[in-house]
Amino acid sequence: MKDCSNAELGELQIALSSRDPIAILKLAFSNFEKIAISFSGAEAVLIDMAVKLRENVSVFTLDTGRLHPETYRFIERIRERYPVQLEILQPDHRQVQELVNQKGLFSFYADGHQECCHIRKVKPLSRRLRTLDAWITGQRRDQSKATRQRLPVLERDGVFSTPDHTLIKFNPLANWSSGQLWDYIKTNDVPFNQLHAQGYVSIGCEPCTRAILPHEHERAGRWWWEDAAKKECGLHSGNLRTVDNASPVRHTELGMV
Ligand code: SF4
Repeated sequence: MKDCSNAELGELQIALSSRDPIAILKLAFSNFEKIAISFSGAEAVLIDMAVKLRENVSVFTLDTGRLHPETYRFIERIRERYPVQLEILQPDHRQVQELVNQKGLFSFYADGHQECCHIRKVKPLSRRLRTLDAWITGQRRDQSKATRQRLPVLERDGVFSTPDHTLIKFNPLANWSSGQLWDYIKTNDVPFNQLHAQGYVSIGCEPCTRAILPHEHERAGRWWWEDAAKKECGLHSGNLRTVDNASPVRHTELGMV
């Protein structure tokens, strides 16, 4: 499957499109050795499923240096609970230092989150993804009508693949609703970020996340000062479409490589 054609990939997308997350994880693990789960929140559910399927599950998370204390504690609860190889990726301190020395600690409020996210998230992620053939995310369609409505359960990663390196991205929770996710968390006693008890739904870095009101959409608490159609941090910027809805926006187009 690693070298499958676009047609084969399309057939697999159709075959898996209505399968449950466990079936998608099984297929992912049976086809890829160099595969890891990208964890930041809801992916705890995927970790819980994965450790029941196999040993030696690789998990990585991005420590941007700007996370809430509750998020750091949540990461450690995952490490204590599950027998996984949990790797904490950090940004290049020289790039962080240059950014904050030149622009201060909150430049994203003035000129957008892309530059800071690129240094603190995209670069360390890109370094890790170069060593993998596939990665697993917790993205769901119901998280954003603007950017995730057509999310497939698996795809060739249109952002981090290169001419020499094809990377497959699995989104096993694509079809799940927020309600299904929380049912699984409660039924299986999966750890979750304590910020959820304070009205936070989608949780990222502390300066760029806020609690939302009951009538607001879950991504409304992320980068709330920006246009809803731009609310991807670069990890999933392939979800951002160009004006004709035809092709994903690559990091080169965002000035990100
Ligand atoms: Fe920087 Fe905010 Fe992006 Fe975190 S979410 S990396 S603080 S811009």
